[in-house]
Parts: sequence; C-alpha cells; structure tokens
Amino acid sequence: MNFRSTRSDECVSPSYALLHGLAADGGLYVPEAFPEDVLSYKALSGKSYQDIAETVLAHFFTNFTAEERKAMIASAYNDETFRDPDIVPLHSIDTDLSVAELFHGRTLAFKDLALSLFPYLLTAAKKQEQEQREILILTATSGDTGKAALEGFKDVPGTNIMVFYPSEGVSPMQMQQMQKQEGDNVRVSAIHGNFDDAQSFLKRVFTNPDVNAYANDKGVLFSSANSINIGRLFPQIVYYVSTYVTLVDNGAISEGETFDVIVPTGNFGNILAGYFAKKMGIPIGKLICASNKNKVLADFFETGVYDMNRDFYTTDSPSMDILLSSNFERFLFYAAGEDAKKVDQWEKDLLETGTMRVTPEELQALRKDFEGGWIGDEETEAVINHVYNDFGYLLDPHTAVAYGVGMNRHRLGLDEGRHTVIMATAHPYKFPPVISAALALRESADPFDTLVDISSVTGIALPKPLADLKHKPVCFDESIDKEAMKQAVLSFVDAISSKA
Ligand SMILES: *Cc1c(COP(=O)(O)O)cnc(C)c1O
Repeated sequence: MNFRSTRSDECVSPSYALLHGLAADGGLYVPEAFPEDVLSYKALSGKSYQDIAETVLAHFFTNFTAEERKAMIASAYNDETFRDPDIVPLHSIDTDLSVAELFHGRTLAFKDLALSLFPYLLTAAKKQEQEQREILILTATSGDTGKAALEGFKDVPGTNIMVFYPSEGVSPMQMQQMQKQEGDNVRVSAIHGNFDDAQSFLKRVFTNPDVNAYANDKGVLFSSANSINIGRLFPQIVYYVSTYVTLVDNGAISEGETFDVIVPTGNFGNILAGYFAKKMGIPIGKLICASNKNKVLADFFETGVYDMNRDFYTTDSPSMDILLSSNFERFLFYAAGEDAKKVDQWEKDLLETGTMRVTPEELQALRKDFEGGWIGDEETEAVINHVYNDFGYLLDPHTAVAYGVGMNRHRLGLDEGRHTVIMATAHPYKFPPVISAALALRESADPFDTLVDISSVTGIALPKPLADLKHKPVCFDESIDKEAMKQAVLSFVDAISSKA
C-alpha cells in the first residue's frame, strides 16, 4: 500500500509517510487505493482488541511483516499501558445508547490509543528508511495530545520530543500532567496564546529551511506526532471496529445492523477514523461531528461553508477549541471524489480568505455520511449533571458535548431508531473545575482537593495516573512568547546533538 498526497500525485511508501508526516506539497497522505468493504462481523467475531488491530492495520502498514506489526501492537496495548483488559470497553446507558470509553490509557484521553502505538511505528519506519539522525518530535497540543505523546516517546532511543501548549486554554490537570513529565528526552513549554497560535507558529518553525538545515547539521530530523500523521490516524480505526463487534456480541444490534456514532471533534482525526471504518465495511450510519461554541465544523455541515473568520472562544472542552481542523483536508479529499486539484483549490481559498465552500450537490452527498451539531458550556454542564443524576454515569466535558448533541438529535427523531454510540474521549477527572461546577460542588484552589471532593460524592476513585501525579515535582514551568518558539527548538537541538 502506497500513500498519495491530497493535493497532487506525489506518492510515497508507508515508512516515508510515517517519518515525514506531511507531503512535500503541503498536503496530507491518504491511501493510494482505499481498502473498501474488507471487514465483516463473521471475520472479526471472537477476536481480541489486539487481533482486530492487526486485521485493520495489515491493510495500511504493508511495509511491516505480520510478526513485526503484532509485536508492536502487543507492546502498545497491554495491562501496563491500559487499565481495562478490553482496551476500549463499551458502557451501556440504555437499549439504544452506549458509550465507548476511549480513556483507559496512561494519560486518560483517547489520544493514548494512537500514541501508545505510534512511537513503535515511527522507530520501525526510521530503521526501514535507514535514517541515522536523531528524531525530534515537535508537537503543539490543545491539552491531551501533548501528554499522550510525551508518555509514548519518553525515553524511546533515537527519539526526542518537545511539546508546546497554550498557556490560556488547557485544564489545570492537563497542565500539571505536562509540567510534571519525566524522561531524559523531553521538553515542555507553555506559550502565550491559544492553540491555533501554537499550531501555526510551530508549523512555521517546522517548515523553516534555515531551522531544518541547522538541525540537519547537528544530526537531528524534525518529525511530528500531530494527528495528521498516518501513524496516528489508522490505529484509531480499530476501536470503531471493536465497538461494532462488541455491540453485536452484546445483542445491542444485530449483525450488519447500522448504528450512528457521535464524536466530540477538534482536529477531525477521531471522526475521520470512524469514516474510514465505515469505508472498510463497518455498518456505521451517520457520523455526527459534535462541536462546542467554536462550531466551524457544525456550521460547515449545515451550510457547506467553512468559515474561520470568527471569534475564538476558550471553553470547558479545550481539546475542541480549534478553528482550523488539520485532518479536515483528508475529509475534503473524499468529498471531492479524490480530486486533488479541487482540494488544492479549496485549501488555497482557505489560506487566502479564511473560507471555502462546497456546492449544494456536494453538501447533499456528504450529508449521507456526516452531520454536525453543537452545544455551549452552560448546556454541557447541564448534560453532565443530568447524566450523572439520571444514570449514575459521569461524563467529561468533551464527551458531554457529544452526549448533548445526541439528546438534541434524539428529540428531533434524527436517530430514526438506530443505536447510537457516544465516543468518550477523556476521563472526567482530567477536568475537575468543570465537573465540580456541573455537580454544584465546591471548587478548591488545588485541583487535587477538588477531585477528592468529587470522588467522595461520586464514589469514583482517582485513577492511578492522577493519584501519582499529585506528588511528582514540576520539571517544566516556563512560559514563552510565540516568537521565542524557534529559539526554544534550536536550543533543544543543541542539547540533543551534544548528548548524542
Ligand atoms: C483531541 C481530543 C478531542 C478532539 O479529537 P480530534 O481527533 O482532534 O477531533 C476531543 N476530546 C478530547 C478529550 C481530546 O483529547
């Protein structure tokens, strides 16, 4: 399987795409020939999460042998990296509603599912490409990616990682997770600004020829762990497939019966993996893209116009505070019928004017698979309160956005009796201030004290990664201007080259 760019005919091997992330023309890599309708319940039933992962990933990472893939999968998904033997357990709310819990990994967010495997894929690709340089992963994070990437790459030989997070935006718990990161090959820095600032400034450093030449001289190659990398994207297909198998096994749906999924969306990576699962043959009906007040995507699915010229809001669901969704370009590629010229034009429109539009016919076609919806912070907290009081189930703010969008849909009869799965993207305890407000509890100055109060009311114990975090020392507390990112990267390059 080779990978082509969304913007041209450029075509590369899986190992090249893994190592370089972005195509030379600025596009994203997609399969040259997508493996359509290759999965069925009969072939999947009885398989473990790990076996399903091998079945799915064998279609994409053809550059590795089955033995190599299986070894990587075994290292990524086991009882040391995930707190649940099912990896992604399904929680039933009632007969037509389930929650797929994607938050049982080391950092308690769904990013762990991809970032537990990604370092193995990347280092194996590095070997295949005979790349001798030290890798430096540069990542901008809206909160959860950074910590998951740091845990994934911590002390992995031949790799180093530097994470930038916006000083305004991440939750206090997310901040502590990053500030207290351990490992000899890691750096973390806050930047003044929001996530879009962090992402766009980092992209500028990443593509700066002088910076790259400097790094090259020092024996360092930049790479990215952002969700545009195929090594992040494809492992996410696996849990849509395992969710389908579990739904049938549990009798929630019958074999081949269609179900809808609602995905709390930011960079559009998670929901895109759901779309890929559908293309591979999983009977997903609608993929519902749930947004918070930064509802660029919800508006797009309503009007066919993607319009970034709007105010940016910091919300209760920080990992969805994004106006430029980096994986959206892959979606556009399929919306354009795999026409790279059209995608290239749309991306130029977006860059020049901050907007792009599809035709009414194109909108109608893509609404066969996708729908959008959004709710604000007040409603999000009301949803957390309602679901906790009525079902005894505690949602994190991102998952609550998806849940609220689902409630509104159900009220309008849009689910048409189909089973709905909510993708639960984070553990609620990553967001103590929002949870305590939603449950009308007292909020303490120290987020750990707030958690103790929440825990004593809900009876939900602190997961070990958070309980351990409280007593760890802060390693990274600096906060810099966007303009200083380049210098921060260069000085880490120096440190890496003097260590090597
Ligand atoms: C990253 C993240 C999202 C958004 O996922 P995308 O793949 O970027 O759309 C939603 N919720 C949480 C908790 C996240 O960490």
